[in-house]
Amino acid sequence: MKIRKGDDVLVLSGKFRGERAKVEEAIPSRNKVILDGLNIAKRHTKQAGATMQAGIIDKLLPLDASNVALWCSSHKGPAKVGFSDVDGTKVRVCHKCGAAL
Ligand SMILES: [Zn+2]
Repeated sequence: MKIRKGDDVLVLSGKFRGERAKVEEAIPSRNKVILDGLNIAKRHTKQAGATMQAGIIDKLLPLDASNVALWCSSHKGPAKVGFSDVDGTKVRVCHKCGAAL
């Protein structure tokens, strides 16, 4: 997976298309990302028993990693990510402008 925790990404599809957000959590095993402040499902709950409160609960939903693109601050757009070897270290690079991400 090319997206990591803390990355600045652009949402490519779905309800939040065009929005930029920070990756709160990356789940490589499921190829999903959780974005900070985005993809919140407003859930209207009914009173269920004495301990559960009725109201709206914010829930962060994981988004498919293929639906987000890493934001390239060099060319100010979504990056097509590639990998490059720099002094034996694998680094992510933007295919469009060549900047290391
Ligand atoms: Zn770039």
